[in-house]
Amino acid sequence: MNTLNRRSLIKGLAASGISFPLIGALHGCSHNSTVKASRVQKVVVIGGGFGGATVAKYLKRFDAEIEVTLIEPKTTYMTCPGSNWYLAGLVDVQSLTHDYTNLIAKHQVRVIHQMATAVDAQSKTVTLENGDVLSYDKLVVSPGIDFKYDAIDGYSKEAAQILPHAWQAGTQTELLAKQIKEMPQGGRFLMVAPPNPYRCAPGPYERISMIAAYFKEHNPRATIMILDPKTKFSKQALFHQGWQELYGEMIEWYGAQDGATVSKIDVANKTVYSDFDTVTADVINVIPAQKAGKIAFTAGLTDATGWCPVNQDTFESSLQKDIYVIGDSAIAGAMPKSGHSASSQGKMCAAAIVSALRDLPMPQTRNVNTCYSLVSKDWGISIVGVYENRDNRIAEIKGAGGVSPMSASLQERKMEADYARAWYKSITMDIWNA
Ligand SMILES: Cc1cc2nc3c(=O)[nH]c(=O)nc-3n(C[C@H](O)[C@H](O)[C@H](O)COP(=O)(O)OP(=O)(O)OC[C@H]3O[C@@H](n4cnc5c(N)ncnc54)[C@H](O)[C@@H]3O)c2cc1C
Repeated sequence: MNTLNRRSLIKGLAASGISFPLIGALHGCSHNSTVKASRVQKVVVIGGGFGGATVAKYLKRFDAEIEVTLIEPKTTYMTCPGSNWYLAGLVDVQSLTHDYTNLIAKHQVRVIHQMATAVDAQSKTVTLENGDVLSYDKLVVSPGIDFKYDAIDGYSKEAAQILPHAWQAGTQTELLAKQIKEMPQGGRFLMVAPPNPYRCAPGPYERISMIAAYFKEHNPRATIMILDPKTKFSKQALFHQGWQELYGEMIEWYGAQDGATVSKIDVANKTVYSDFDTVTADVINVIPAQKAGKIAFTAGLTDATGWCPVNQDTFESSLQKDIYVIGDSAIAGAMPKSGHSASSQGKMCAAAIVSALRDLPMPQTRNVNTCYSLVSKDWGISIVGVYENRDNRIAEIKGAGGVSPMSASLQERKMEADYARAWYKSITMDIWNA
């Protein structure tokens, strides 16, 4: 029977952490929630990462009668969060890898391990790599990022097999870890950092910290250089403080103000060119400029920026009706591109879709993000943001978030490192394992 049980929807929303205004709106709703639809409503989700897996699960929790199909080529998903910790040897690959068993068995999400190759917004269909065609009432697209390989002369998808980006976790992460382990004693590690906007603002600098932690133990004369096309970066003062305290002179950072924007790379000779200098290194991690995942372009969801404009309450595309974009691919106002943001948006988007399908009032958006970074195993720092829609743009609520204090004690840094590990456990438990 196609009846939405309002009590179970509200219970599900409360458990999801979605804000009270939305729950209140649903409580106060005067509409008859016995559905406008007379047939099973179909939602297809493209991408089983932080955004897609969350929206799939929460659609089923908010309304078990919706048929939810998740399209994801991989049978297991290795998270980028924690992948820097792996480079320092703090965690193994297994602990960062999740599968879809729970979504299938516990939440009755239908999972198809295929690549989506085309979307037809007119006929409301998705075509898969094997030729199958799925129809939808609502489509959610959460394909993560793709790289602008041509942004630096000489770098390419093929070059990433020699100078890894490791900005999508998996074989790239393992390749970078191997190169770090095999680097000659006293050698030089070089990171070419990405321009804004990119996934995980503090991620490159946490990576540098973790590599420094590894070198401190296994290759103490090694040096690390970062060439950055930006003039500043997330939690910069906190990172510099930690680097100085823990790794002395090992790490050198140069920004756009120093001319450090890399214009060309000679892959064979492991040499990079910028106005700052021509630098040769033993291991080079190139994190290229980024854009929305490929299917977002194929589906006509991107604008001139290379990202996807969306309604800031519902995450419905501004360009294609009944298609929603969440996670890294979306232009989500002040929210950073992070796993936490993607998951928070997944919950809001699920609520918006249920409201649309069941003729309920639209939720009032409230999103949250926390980005923890480890500077060492026992030195954690964080940045937190809470967001609301102001003037049709997701904006940060002043005073609701914040950054770790510069003056924290060692015990407080250790506590934040423990919180970082607990954050990882709880968010991955919520998305894939509970
Ligand atoms: C080193 C590093 C560290 C990070 N640390 C943190 C952290 O500590 N905290 C945090 O919050 N965030 C962190 N992030 C950011 C986080 O990983 C991303 O922001 C998050 O994964 C975005 O979620 P998403 O759903 O948009 O994309 P993803 O999680 O990348 O998921 C996209 C999925 O879509 C699939 N897909 C793509 N195209 C198709 C298609 N055509 N058909 C079917 N499936 C498709 C892919 O296989 C993939 O599984 C980190 C990132 C990096 C690189």
